[in-house]
Amino acid sequence: MARRKKIYEGKAKILYAGPEPGTIVQYFKDDATANNAEKKAIVEGKGVLNNRLSEFFMRGLSNVGIPNHLVRRLNMREQLVREAEMIPLEVIVRNFAAGSIVKRLGLEEGSKLPRPVIEFCLKNDELGDPLVTEDHVINFGWAAPPDLEDMVSMALRVNDFLSGVMYGVGIKLVDFKLEFGRVWEDDYPFLIVADEISPDCCRFRDVKTERKLDKDVFREDLGSLSEAYSEVARRLGIIAAAAPATKHSKLKLVR
Ligand code: UDP
Repeated sequence: MARRKKIYEGKAKILYAGPEPGTIVQYFKDDATANNAEKKAIVEGKGVLNNRLSEFFMRGLSNVGIPNHLVRRLNMREQLVREAEMIPLEVIVRNFAAGSIVKRLGLEEGSKLPRPVIEFCLKNDELGDPLVTEDHVINFGWAAPPDLEDMVSMALRVNDFLSGVMYGVGIKLVDFKLEFGRVWEDDYPFLIVADEISPDCCRFRDVKTERKLDKDVFREDLGSLSEAYSEVARRLGIIAAAAPATKHSKLKLVR
């Protein structure tokens, strides 16, 4: 295969120049990191599962009219996506209290929030992705006021979609993180959901047992991360119900 131009390598993905202008190939690695990369491991099969899961969720967003970067999945670990000017923010949506908001505000872990809470964090590893206010976002030019409005309304739509899809397979959506990018069509800019949607950036709990089915399994050493992600993929019908949980080289993909 011809060598491709690597554009960027992050903690969980590598971006290569795409085959046509305005496209990027997104490669999902098996690397798992937590606490701003203080904790690291290779989790065999994670990249394959996240590639499939992100494809599943982004395609679902397209089906309900929420613009996003997915063009198509290319193979087990890669997908073709639209190139976008990334907004340097993480947009977090929370339905239940978990993670940093519990520590920051002293909330009870797992408590239901009165309504979805949206937070913005600056994407900056050196600073540990600090929480920022909407006024910071506008003052420092990370996004313009109409972008902020669009990010909030799109994030809430994604929340409704994802909560419903997951609830349908017995999984509660506690919280998740989105990233947005700007694309241009006919000189008109608009925002799309970019990066990824996977158990790496969502908190999923089994509705009945509260079993953790996301990166918290790795953060808190609760067992096999690939087994947890496989369970999510199995319930969504992405891998066959009888697929072995840990032998990802033999994952039986359903479609
Ligand atoms: N999140 C993420 N990337 C980050 C920070 C958070 O994907 O750099 C996700 C995380 O997986 C969770 C949600 O955003 O689903 C809220 O994370 P939180 O602020 O609680 O941070 P944490 O304590 O998990 O680092």
